[in-house]
Amino acid sequence: MIGFTPGTDRRLPAWRDVVAWFTALDAASPRVAVRTLGTTTLGRPFIAAFIGDSATIADLPRYREIQRRLADARLRAPGEVQRLVAGGKVVVLVTSSIHSTEVGGILTPMVLAERLAAGDDAESRAIRAATLVILVPSLNPDGVDIVGDWYRSTMGTPAEGTSPPWLYHKYTGHDNNRDWYFFSQVETRLTVDSLHNVWHPEVVNDIHQQGSTAARIFIPPYMDPVEPNVDPLLTAGVNALGTAMAWRMTADGFTGVSINSTYDAWTPARAYQHYHGGVRILTETASARLATPIDIPFDSLRPGRGYDSKTASWSFVAPWPGGHWGIGDIVRYQTAATWAMLASVASDRAAWLTSFATLGERAVAGRAAPGREQWPVAYVIPTAQRDPAALAILLRTLQRGQVEIHHATAPVSIGSVTWPAGSYVIPLAQPYGSFAKALLETQHYPDLHEYPGGPPKQPYDVTAHTLPLLLGVTVSAVHDAAPSFASAVIAPIPAPRLVAPGLSDHPTKRIAIYQSWSPTMDEGWTRWVFDQYRIPFTTITDRDIRAGGLRQRFDAILIPDQPARELSRGLTGSYPDSLKGGLGAEGARSLGAFVDDGGTLVALNEASDYAITALGLPVRDVLDGVADRDFYAPGSILAATLHPRSALANGMPASAAIWFEEGPAFAISDSTQATAIATYESASPLLSGWLLGGSKLAGTAALVDARRGRGHAVLFGFRPQYRGQSMATLPLLWNALLGRFDR
Ligand SMILES: [Zn+2]
Repeated sequence: MIGFTPGTDRRLPAWRDVVAWFTALDAASPRVAVRTLGTTTLGRPFIAAFIGDSATIADLPRYREIQRRLADARLRAPGEVQRLVAGGKVVVLVTSSIHSTEVGGILTPMVLAERLAAGDDAESRAIRAATLVILVPSLNPDGVDIVGDWYRSTMGTPAEGTSPPWLYHKYTGHDNNRDWYFFSQVETRLTVDSLHNVWHPEVVNDIHQQGSTAARIFIPPYMDPVEPNVDPLLTAGVNALGTAMAWRMTADGFTGVSINSTYDAWTPARAYQHYHGGVRILTETASARLATPIDIPFDSLRPGRGYDSKTASWSFVAPWPGGHWGIGDIVRYQTAATWAMLASVASDRAAWLTSFATLGERAVAGRAAPGREQWPVAYVIPTAQRDPAALAILLRTLQRGQVEIHHATAPVSIGSVTWPAGSYVIPLAQPYGSFAKALLETQHYPDLHEYPGGPPKQPYDVTAHTLPLLLGVTVSAVHDAAPSFASAVIAPIPAPRLVAPGLSDHPTKRIAIYQSWSPTMDEGWTRWVFDQYRIPFTTITDRDIRAGGLRQRFDAILIPDQPARELSRGLTGSYPDSLKGGLGAEGARSLGAFVDDGGTLVALNEASDYAITALGLPVRDVLDGVADRDFYAPGSILAATLHPRSALANGMPASAAIWFEEGPAFAISDSTQATAIATYESASPLLSGWLLGGSKLAGTAALVDARRGRGHAVLFGFRPQYRGQSMATLPLLWNALLGRFDR
């Protein structure tokens, strides 16, 4: 159906062929039921294949009901667990190719589905008897074609095997796998609403690929840190299952298998299931150049984080000898890993279901569960908030994560503060209380170093996810007596209508957003936020900027977060010449002329460093060249004080929680030409996450209005629209785009 054997060099399928293949499998096998869950951002079908014994597939509602009762201990009679466990199947969700350049993940699901459906050996039968596998062949079907089309169009050229020069998800690119607690994207919502929340998988296997020159595959256990709200029973489960997979792969002759390396378990952004009763089995197989094979001599192998790929160790028991590596190898490793997982789960069927039931019992016990004695008893959210839309987003986010929210029936006093009756109450003794707690509390990332006194141990991802800070919503933890609340759970909160006055629907300004051929996720998120607020904009590229005449076309130009060097130099390597060159000297001159003529240039985060140089602004990034051991904040929420009378700070509170991620901090060298709009007043501005060397920030500026000619450059030392979440700082961005300046 797809016209070639999955794993054939230099061949990738189109999404419609993948869908047709699964549809045909459904028609041919009573062990397979394919469902279309909805449509993607760009309108493609989003599918899932349910695979198991034909009797299981014929009776799916029965198994869904067993899962529902195992998940929520409040629904079961005492002693019912044994009966449910005896009759249940372990639900295993296998998701693949969310990252579309990790192309093995587009093919492996077909190999797995065929083997699961048709395998006639004892092991295949045992897996079908014990499990219900839900296979999502791609969490990003749009990207299958975005990458596949690029690959085919560059076949036989020097660019064969490169990543496309645009994002492989319309808005988020690689960040599509950082959306599992905010649910901003269609694909995340389909997966959470139709699969996680309905089928409560005990095991979730997410198939990924990593770089080419270290381990052939990563399998959990994860490295530290583990986010503290993940139940220890889940962490123990992931450790046991991952280690069993590595054992089986080694027995089957696979080498280069790494466990307990590189990947940590800190952020809920990648792990919805960690707060919903499921273990997350991430696998990361080494990449080739898309479907084009490469040669990797043993000597060219590089150390990984937590192991040396040339040396055997306890967590890397058999090094790979090097050599040829292609799409067939990738599919073989991915298939073997998932199969090893399924075989292990099948032989422990009752243990997985019992463990799942226990997780549910611990969840509804709240503080009575061992290890949770110090938890708050509830969170309270007053109904009166600065931004009612942000409140609605917070409540909707929690509701999508199946958190039950109630109304207080009496005023709630916490210390000296009293919130009125009618406030929202979130008791933590509920099935998904840990999800609410993880998102509502502040993060204290452990101070991990490579060695005592050495540089910080780089986290795999960002270190903070406190939604009340990002959204600017007041939330209080209740530690003493449980507040009284109505037993009824509140109804789903309707979606708020988002409005940026002066910009939404009928804009008073002509806005351009710069898009690099070296694509950035921040640019995609910026477009997503603009689309949510219905703010029209024009996308401009290197050529548009270099051509000049910008002031005739635009009032404001926004450059999303991107390293200065990448902005000025653009794409390098084997891409077509038409995409190369970046903004260059011509672009810098043109942007300078735009500002001189009265335009507003808005630069976000690292792009501010570009603007300082390109426009010759009297501002310096004090963090430029500072070593990680002296200053480090790899994705944290910091406090900044706003200039109280500045028009740019219009509508903001006196102090703002800002998203700081490898950003600049500014010192102004000529105060007649530049003004600090937001500053770090303290040497310890950390609100959530991890910050080393905060004293470097004291007295520096986080937001600067720099003047040149008749115009302005607004330099953000942070990401005011971080992953679509930081609604608290959006007014600063709107004010800048509207050209709200004091003079
Ligand atoms: Zn990936």
